[in-house]
Amino acid sequence: MAPAFAKNKPINWKMVTTWPPHFPVLGESAEMIAKWVKEMSDGRLNIAVYGAGELVPALGVFDAVTQGTVEMGHSASYYWAGKVPAAQFFAAVPFGLNAQSMNSWILNGGGMELWEEVYAPFNLKPLLAGNTGVQMGGWFNKEIKSMEDFKGLKMRIPGLGGKVLKKAGGNAILVAGGEIYTNLDRGVIDATEWVGPYHDLKMGFYKAAKYYYYPGWHEPGTAFELTVNKKAWEKLPKDLQAIVDAASYKSDMWVLSEFEAKNNDALQKLITKHKVQLKQFPDEVLKNLKKLSKEVLDEVAEADPMSRKVYDSFLKFRDNIYAWNKVTEERYQQFKHY
Ligand code: CA
Repeated sequence: MAPAFAKNKPINWKMVTTWPPHFPVLGESAEMIAKWVKEMSDGRLNIAVYGAGELVPALGVFDAVTQGTVEMGHSASYYWAGKVPAAQFFAAVPFGLNAQSMNSWILNGGGMELWEEVYAPFNLKPLLAGNTGVQMGGWFNKEIKSMEDFKGLKMRIPGLGGKVLKKAGGNAILVAGGEIYTNLDRGVIDATEWVGPYHDLKMGFYKAAKYYYYPGWHEPGTAFELTVNKKAWEKLPKDLQAIVDAASYKSDMWVLSEFEAKNNDALQKLITKHKVQLKQFPDEVLKNLKKLSKEVLDEVAEADPMSRKVYDSFLKFRDNIYAWNKVTEERYQQFKHY
């Protein structure tokens, strides 16, 4: 079979992202993927990266890649919950898997095959492109002492976590990253979650909210996605496909390592320099949120056969990995300090 492209003719692709131009870590990692692909392919595949609003709006990434307006997108799959409910499971599940286990489920535990099935009708090929690790619970201007405090709360919280907040009586609002600070500062929203200390410090949320809650029960290991238009992918020579695949693996590890390496220093800076009050959600609140999360997940699975299929795989993997964690991670956690 003749290759679709002459071997040495450079291929030029466009990648749109949900992140503002040159956004720390997330936008940065999208740009690094392009750089790695260029280096590994010796310039045969050039990917121009566009920030949110440069070619398409932040939340227009999915449609742009589906329609083939651009070849690639960098985002998180829970932003597409309205169109593709089952996609949410590949970003974050409240009280679900952490980064290590998300990677294991998606890459080696059957998750990727399901993700491909979920995205096939949309002409998309999904690849993993990063993970935040356990996130923070968010920024608030009033204390969360009981479930009552969520009633009427206008909070920026995407995906399944947003549905849980709604069940708790709050208003979940979807706001793209670039607009959160202004909305919080102006009181359009009362509270927001974002990622974790390293990124939240850069976002300046400490200037608009005084309480920083943990843990991020709603996003225990959020995965980022690199999507490729299927037709563009199929036209790509096999070696370039392998290069894109390798770059996504590298990005997956780089993003998680970047956050994990820098989060604690940023947290200490928020507390000591910016006088942020670090608060823990009370046990009762977390227990109730967990109960509501289970209800939300059951409802999502009930309403959509594909979500049922993905959720079943997720639960089966979770039970399996938790059994293994019991004799490894959990026992080790108890004795890890000298
Ligand atoms: Ca988040």
